[in-house]
Amino acid sequence: MPSSNKDLVLAVDIGGTKIAATIAGRNGKRMGRTTAIPTPQTGSASEWISSVGEALHDIVRHSGYSDRFAGVYYSTVGPMREVAGGLRIFPPNIAPLRQVGLHYPAMLSEVLGLPFGFDNDGNTALAAEVLDAKGAAAGAENAAVLVWSSGVGCGFYSQGKLLHFEARDPVTWADPALSDVVRNSFEVGHVFVEGTSAKLQCGDGAWGHLEAHLGGKAAEERHEIPKESHARFMEAGRQYLPQALAMPLQQYGIDLVVVTGALGKALLNEHPEFAGELSDAFAQGAGGHAVAFKASAIDNASLRGAQLLGLQALERDTFVVPAHSASQNSSTGLAGP
Ligand SMILES: [Zn+2]
Repeated sequence: MPSSNKDLVLAVDIGGTKIAATIAGRNGKRMGRTTAIPTPQTGSASEWISSVGEALHDIVRHSGYSDRFAGVYYSTVGPMREVAGGLRIFPPNIAPLRQVGLHYPAMLSEVLGLPFGFDNDGNTALAAEVLDAKGAAAGAENAAVLVWSSGVGCGFYSQGKLLHFEARDPVTWADPALSDVVRNSFEVGHVFVEGTSAKLQCGDGAWGHLEAHLGGKAAEERHEIPKESHARFMEAGRQYLPQALAMPLQQYGIDLVVVTGALGKALLNEHPEFAGELSDAFAQGAGGHAVAFKASAIDNASLRGAQLLGLQALERDTFVVPAHSASQNSSTGLAGP
């Protein structure tokens, strides 16, 4: 049982540009402001761990409630792989960690001296849509989120659970995670698609991935998606999304997709007919699965999801103690509950 005086959670969203943190109380209320620091992009991995860990530790120390924290919950970029020696995370957008692959949520938690929980940022965004009363899938038993911006990602929620997948290359949607430790969401951006337009090269070097057709990278780097390119992105969505998503959605019994990310939200909010056109494209595809599309109404959904999942971990007593602080006889380390 969690002790009753430990009633706060530090929620942290780790992205390639910034790291945002906020404090959540048992009633779901935020305590104080959200703090954001730029994600360090130079130096060694151990320098990265100590500087980010110290910045988070400062938030706890200066909160005025430092003895009330039950744990820290991270929303992290992926992909994650289980290798000899434990879980490794290879974030393509964080240079000091990209090659080495560390279980950095566990290492940061050791610096903080707090137990931890974590999930992939696609899944934390989805958790906000399902668990927040303002979410587009509030209270649903089955839903997906499509993150559509410079990159394209996805999260699946089925029968009341966030689903986790193996990180494989090429991505095959039929690979549910084999272990309880790996927390990748469904990497729909790196599924191969076939279409009428020429094959395009993905940021990972492969040709013909969904993200190469749908991702708005060039436009986003200028902090705008030009309106004249909306028609092109909508056509790509109608053509390629059903190929990559219809079968997995059907497999997991999901008939609602919440669209988030700057580009996806702009397309749905500025073109009211687009949601229905996507539904028609899915109904006409293989299997004819009926799917509804809705734009997200939550800002910073990944951070909000980290708060809500952190509070759930507090209620359910599922925070994990970092490996080095655990019993020296423990061979399972980060296996978790
Ligand atoms: Zn790719």
